[in-house]
Amino acid sequence: MTECPKCGGTDIAMILWGLPQMSKDLEKKVKDKKIVFGGCCVSSGDPKLECNDCGWRY
Ligand SMILES: [Zn+2]
Repeated sequence: MTECPKCGGTDIAMILWGLPQMSKDLEKKVKDKKIVFGGCCVSSGDPKLECNDCGWRY
């Protein structure tokens, strides 16, 4: 289980960059806050995970 380095929370979402193909499965994961969208501008060193508790990205 992944833990937030800031608050220690385990409610971590994966950040999805770019414009993904929307599907029922993806929609569900977004609803469950397993996935959040990072935006369409991808640059190096982008965080891959986001904490749903404190919003920390890393
Ligand atoms: Zn956190």
